[in-house]
Amino acid sequence: MPTTWKIEPSTGFIEIFDEKKKQSVYSGKAAQIVISAMKGGKMKVAVDERKSLYYFSNELLFSPVGRPPINLKVSSGGKKSYSYRGSLAVSPQKGGLRGVNIVDIEDYLKSVVPSEIYNRAPDAAQQAQTIAARTYAVRNLKRHSGSENFQLCDKVHCQVYSGIAREIKLATKAVKETNGKILIYGSEPANTVYHSNCGGYIIDSRAAWKGSPVPYLLGHYDGVSGQKPFCQYGKLIKQNQKTEKLPKPQTSITISKMNAQSKKATHKSFGHRVGMCQDGAIGMAAIGYNARQVLAFYYPGTKMATMNYAVNGSEPVETPPIVVAAAPRPAQQVSLVAPPNPTQINALRRNSKTVQSNRSIKDTLKQIAASRNDSAATSLRKIFWTPGQPGISRSIY
Ligand SMILES: [Zn+2]
Ligand SMILES: [Zn+2]
Repeated sequence: MPTTWKIEPSTGFIEIFDEKKKQSVYSGKAAQIVISAMKGGKMKVAVDERKSLYYFSNELLFSPVGRPPINLKVSSGGKKSYSYRGSLAVSPQKGGLRGVNIVDIEDYLKSVVPSEIYNRAPDAAQQAQTIAARTYAVRNLKRHSGSENFQLCDKVHCQVYSGIAREIKLATKAVKETNGKILIYGSEPANTVYHSNCGGYIIDSRAAWKGSPVPYLLGHYDGVSGQKPFCQYGKLIKQNQKTEKLPKPQTSITISKMNAQSKKATHKSFGHRVGMCQDGAIGMAAIGYNARQVLAFYYPGTKMATMNYAVNGSEPVETPPIVVAAAPRPAQQVSLVAPPNPTQINALRRNSKTVQSNRSIKDTLKQIAASRNDSAATSLRKIFWTPGQPGISRSIY
């Protein structure tokens, strides 16, 4: 936990708000604000080294003021600074200061997507990745609840987030084009795990980690029977070696399920090999499949839904999926416990509280909807995490 935070609003104006007391403690000009941890669980706030607003023990919310686009340049513990959209909440904690970036989920994704997929991936692959990342975020908002009291961290454990510096046009476009879209199975967000390259065969979630079978995370060939795996085409595109003709897109693809133990690969694999193969998604997009078809292939049997905040109704609206994959009938209900991603297993072992119930996900969806529809709030208070720190924030309010 750092003991200092430096904040620079891009507009040169800031508002500092004490949420507990519901009052603004400062509003005006500020080139730089320095927050330092003090004894007794307090913090000192200095605006431009001149005025010191001493001794706060409550969390303070720092928001840039001015005409958008606006952001905050933030650094903690004297480290490199990063620019973030939204606001920063800072509170004294365990002798240090915890910072939490409070940002709209759609803005969050603008930074996450480029960190998670090849930056020049074709549109449909960017969109599929965005929907998978949005679904993953929504499903895992309670991963750091409890005593940690935040939603998502900015590391691989949740999804890599590093603020504005990581944003690129192609991904931002994909975020806008897929506004609020997630994949659901039943009425829950699906567990949209993804990996870099499956090596030709996606494996069943049970072959990667134990747990109950998940109907849409099954082992199957990453491609059309008789053709090369999609990820081989994707890899060629990434390496700019597209010398051979790509196959034509199929109107339907039958997924032939492999048994849980099957792990054979046609080429080198990267990652856990469960769910969406990112190189495969790039290959599919280059061949001409759209994002919906990519997702139907990698998460067969899931449906597309739209988060409340992106529609005018009160309930998420399902759009009919374009079926390219013959989804195997689930033999049993989907497990509501998220199979952990291998990079997450150690963290999960350390904190078994991260397992979430069906009910909590539903509640979270409702909370997000309520939060997004609350026009009294600024458009900022949505998703929380700590920039530059592995710990992140707290629940939606
Ligand atoms: Zn995390
Ligand atoms: Zn693959």
